[in-house]
Amino acid sequence: MLALGIEGTAHTVGVGIVDERCRILANVYDMLRPEKGGIHPREAANHHAELVVPLIAKSAGVAGIELHDLDLIAFSQGPGLGPCLRTVATAARALALSLDVPILGVNHCVAHLEIGRGVTDAKDPVLLYVSGGNTQVIAFARGRYRVFGETLDIGIGNLLDKFARECGLAFPGGPILENLALQRSRLLPLPYSVKGMDVAFSGMLTAALALRTHGASLEDLAFSIQEVAFAMLTEVTERAMAHVDKEEVLLGGGVARNRRLQEMVGRMASDRGATMFVPPGDLCIDNGAMIAWTGLEMHRAGVRMTIRGTTVDQRYRTDEVSVTWR
Ligand code: AMP
Ligand code: MG
Repeated sequence: MLALGIEGTAHTVGVGIVDERCRILANVYDMLRPEKGGIHPREAANHHAELVVPLIAKSAGVAGIELHDLDLIAFSQGPGLGPCLRTVATAARALALSLDVPILGVNHCVAHLEIGRGVTDAKDPVLLYVSGGNTQVIAFARGRYRVFGETLDIGIGNLLDKFARECGLAFPGGPILENLALQRSRLLPLPYSVKGMDVAFSGMLTAALALRTHGASLEDLAFSIQEVAFAMLTEVTERAMAHVDKEEVLLGGGVARNRRLQEMVGRMASDRGATMFVPPGDLCIDNGAMIAWTGLEMHRAGVRMTIRGTTVDQRYRTDEVSVTWR
């Protein structure tokens, strides 16, 4: 069975093709990189509209298949930016109708977890999902993926990107800050903001920018932001693992590529006799393969949707999905 998945919740439009054993036959994407300012939903949607058809063709080429070989079309139904979601949903509907194959809308956050289970040995992990717009600690309990902790304001990636942007660095800022942080080890005071199982980052952004105005170096700030923000994330992830009694932790989302975050979560895991799993970078960021794979799992479990049922949901919550395939 071959599934094609289209991702397009935010800045990245991606198309992936996977088979029933979670072999990734293709995973191609293009990310909107605004020259200045943040991501405008309409601009991102236009970007996706221009690129989605070429990317579909490219994915088939990379996989070495014809589109007629596909058995299922999946797409990211939410959460995300409305215009982007609608663009990708329209492309998915057109493709499914023209090929006369089933279509399934997939929850983007659930897909980050499922691809990790698909390509690593993780069976029942707590997912620390750290991306541009989202920051959540998710685990499976009683038939659903439940959110045990999350950001109360901006996503961790957004903190890194916004700080970088305000300091005149390019987008995405996360990897640039990671490199700058390697050059220093002086910890500046920044607010450590954990509230119960939740975290908040906007105060740290304000504080870091204020320190910058007062002459703190970019390297010291990059180092300090990483140390404090990642420690907060590691703390709530560990507490979730203890609460739900899980011995695996999985990283997902673009920030999961960060070596220092991997090091901190990895250390926490080994200290409690647990194991950390990190999917390859191309499967951590927003990508079509994770959508294809989750769609395939859903389809195998008997989930079906009519075209009418494929309306997008900007606020599609992780725990709204009935996980019948586990
Ligand atoms: P996503 O939203 O999951 O596609 O991931 C994009 C986010 O990941 C952006 O906010 C990037 O700045 C961030 N990111 C990518 N690579 C790294 C890295 N090495 N360290 C920190 N953040 C990163
Ligand atoms: Mg994502």
